Amino acid sequence: ESITVSELANRMAERAADVVKSLMKMGLMVSINEAIDADTAELVIEEFGHRTVRVSDADVEQVIDTVEDKEEDLQARPPIITIMGHVDHGKTSLLDRIRQANVVSGEAGGITQHIGAYQVKAESGAVLSFLDTPGHAAFTSMRARGANVTDIVVLVVAADDAVMPQTVEAINHAKAADVPMIVAINKIDKPAANPQKVRTDLLQHEVVVEEMGGDVQTVEVSAHTGQGIDTLLEAIALQSEILELTANPKRPAQGAVIEAKLDVGRGPVATVLVQNGTLKRGDIFVVGEQWGKVRALINDKGDRVDEAGPSVPVEVLGLNGTPEAGDVLNVVETEAQAREIAEYRENAAKDKRAAAGAAITLDQMLARAKADETLVELPVVVKADVQGSAEAIVQALEKIGNEEVRVRVLHYGVGAITESDIGLAEASGAPVIGFNVRANAPARNSANQKGVEIRYYSIIYDLIDDIKAAASGLLSAEV
Ligand code: GDP
Repeated sequence: ESITVSELANRMAERAADVVKSLMKMGLMVSINEAIDADTAELVIEEFGHRTVRVSDADVEQVIDTVEDKEEDLQARPPIITIMGHVDHGKTSLLDRIRQANVVSGEAGGITQHIGAYQVKAESGAVLSFLDTPGHAAFTSMRARGANVTDIVVLVVAADDAVMPQTVEAINHAKAADVPMIVAINKIDKPAANPQKVRTDLLQHEVVVEEMGGDVQTVEVSAHTGQGIDTLLEAIALQSEILELTANPKRPAQGAVIEAKLDVGRGPVATVLVQNGTLKRGDIFVVGEQWGKVRALINDKGDRVDEAGPSVPVEVLGLNGTPEAGDVLNVVETEAQAREIAEYRENAAKDKRAAAGAAITLDQMLARAKADETLVELPVVVKADVQGSAEAIVQALEKIGNEEVRVRVLHYGVGAITESDIGLAEASGAPVIGFNVRANAPARNSANQKGVEIRYYSIIYDLIDDIKAAASGLLSAEV
């Protein structure tokens, strides 16, 4: 950690020349644009009679309540569900239908607001929280920002169509995030519906449904007629029980932003899904690079509420700026702390942007793996020109390694490298391998921005050799 003389002078509101002079007194010959270390800076600050406030990642963590919850404070919390699947398989229709099936406090049609998530009650009484943005793009970008909000993925597959490319992507995104899946076989009302084909299709993608001896539940539903919706909700409730999801409603809130906007009348508004603790009116918080004080909380029915507990989505008013989806919200004690942390993060983000083009290369990943002994998997995303090559590559890659190290193909497919591939790679810190295919323009931009490495090959042996070298690098790192 260091700071330039001019920056230090700036922050103390002193003349840079005076700072240089005081450094000279300490025996240090430094020019205005040179940097000094934090300890020296602290001496200078004291010399000028100012107080030092050093903020670092560690300080931020101290201010934000990271105390572990006591066992007796933990209570069951509702699961948070994301719906994924191929386009036109009925994700939106299903979300709408579930919303209508809402029986929370018997107020039919009570939901009028779209705030990015909503809660419903299953017949058994279990409360479930659904994210209102279907698809894996939102899911993955949230994950890339560090917000793992989804507990259960409902994979929608149309019974008259079966497994499609985006179905496979969704499966791989859920697997990469280690989130359990429930399959909703939709459009069961259609004469051409063939749910059995869906089940066998899934088997080819290592999704083994209960009917075939696996542990993935399937439910036949129709978003049109409403058939099977209750059963689906109960299946989710059951899965949630198995996961034993808990939270401590007594602690200061921590949550994730799922939507944020600048509202003309209300100022910056963020929908936050509380993940732990209880968010209350009047709470002071920091969220990403922004901070604020909760002026009002509005639930998914459009009602003002005084507080929101675990897994409850609420709109939060009282922000000083608009955060981004995926930003984490933490309640802190004082406004000074909130402001300080937000400022620190803003500066850190600037520094990070300044170090642009800092793509994670395969080599850097290896270096990182060396530092982190527990990493024994080399994740990769593979795209190829034809199915045959893709499969041959995946098979060869999966043979590399032993019980200590292995290559993990997060996703493979045919066609150009897309933004979805980059998103997945970023979220898992993986490179993308293109075999006889290129990245399209949006994917290239996104890879540059996110620092995802793309490697192109046209000869399988080269590809395998490189990955082998990478994997054996991981191996020797273990020794
Ligand atoms: P998304 O792209 O996955 O969000 O799919 P949509 O919800 O937009 O649905 C795509 C199309 O399938 C629309 O025309 C829907 O009306 C239709 N659809 C969705 N669910 C069902 C269903 O259960 N039965 C039938 N027959 N059609 C459905």
